[in-house]
Amino acid sequence: MTSFDVAIVGGGLAGCSAALHARLKGASVILLERGRCGAQASGVNYGGVRQQGRHPAELPLACRSRRIWGRLAELVGSDCEFTATGHLKLARNDADMQSLLAYRDIARDHGIDLEILSAADLRSRYPYLAGGYSGASLCAADGQANPRLVAPAFARKAKELGAIVREQCELEQAEKVATGFRLSVKGETQAIKARRLINTAGAWGARIARWFSDDVDEQVMAPNMCVTEPVAPLIGPNLGICGGSIYLRQTQNGSVVFGAGLGIADAGCLRARPLADVSMDAARAAVAMVPQLTNVLVVRTWTGIEGRMPDGLPVVGKSPKTEGLFHAFGFSGHGFQLGPAVGAVLAELCLDGTSPTPIDGLSLARFDPVPSSAAASSI
Ligand SMILES: Cc1cc2nc3c(=O)[nH]c(=O)nc-3n(C[C@H](O)[C@H](O)[C@H](O)COP(=O)(O)OP(=O)(O)OC[C@H]3O[C@@H](n4cnc5c(N)ncnc54)[C@H](O)[C@@H]3O)c2cc1C
Repeated sequence: MTSFDVAIVGGGLAGCSAALHARLKGASVILLERGRCGAQASGVNYGGVRQQGRHPAELPLACRSRRIWGRLAELVGSDCEFTATGHLKLARNDADMQSLLAYRDIARDHGIDLEILSAADLRSRYPYLAGGYSGASLCAADGQANPRLVAPAFARKAKELGAIVREQCELEQAEKVATGFRLSVKGETQAIKARRLINTAGAWGARIARWFSDDVDEQVMAPNMCVTEPVAPLIGPNLGICGGSIYLRQTQNGSVVFGAGLGIADAGCLRARPLADVSMDAARAAVAMVPQLTNVLVVRTWTGIEGRMPDGLPVVGKSPKTEGLFHAFGFSGHGFQLGPAVGAVLAELCLDGTSPTPIDGLSLARFDPVPSSAAASSI
């Protein structure tokens, strides 16, 4: 078949989830992935599944995603090592405590429970933490998963249900035609046709959006990651800190994964690398947070290529200019948790014309130039 209800470009978590959800709605689906599904940002990230601390514009998506994370086994046949270990956000001082208290109210409006802990609570509940924190906020429903497993699991299930998943297949150009979209794949002469096009191309999403004059400035970022040798179970919740520097978790096999700072990435040649100095600083910050890590060996450092938007929020929604085109890219370092719901929402927008999950603050139209007062008054 060369004609589909929905074509998806980009087999990261957002695209693989969109493929599955569109298939569940009965659409014929083709997903085109230049490399392997989940081999870019979705497969190499830190693995944090965190609602706490997100911008309010993302919270409806984050809450919906959390519900999907909780039923992954039923949906894709594997829990992908998702565990609700909790997410503990540490306060460095009284001002941080005030911001955690204020955020608790925002989270409550979205049905997310945050427990505020004092310094004494921290000492008794998490004795492995260094002293000196003023307190923390705990989101017990948050947790972690194995990023290597998740996007491929969605792709496998979509395929099992009849989606065409084409790996090693690069979309070279796409254009709007009367019946929808005409897609040209690198090295192939026969075009693919689709009624709807979903752009989930990650750090390359803006490039595809530009083919349709949806111009937006997407940069790249490369969070610097480290992992240690396995150690005996030590750390409970996934740890973060106000101000967002170090973040740290322990996996089921005992390895401690932590991240802080940025490596370097080149989206053009698909290369990203961590930086030794950044990794050293991250290791120092990890030990400052959990002193028992002092003599634990770091066995690997890495990073990945992630798209970053000017305001740090992703683009999710329909194209402002082209009927039938939908975008979700530029997740700015925090799209792993959102991925499952992003796919569900894209499938709804695409096939039902609307989604029950509010995504108003994430529209690409937010980057449209604001008319100057002179121009506005002349209208
Ligand atoms: C090191 C690191 C740590 C992170 N930690 C976290 C975290 O703990 N929690 C969290 O929530 N988020 C985290 N993130 C962010 C998260 O990983 C990303 O936001 C998310 O995976 C983006 O998913 P995606 O599907 O949009 O993009 P991607 O996973 O990048 O997928 C896009 C896909 O599109 C394909 N593609 C592009 N152009 C074409 C084309 N022309 N034809 C065919 N295919 C194409 C690419 O090959 C790629 O596979 C982290 C990111 C990194 C890099």
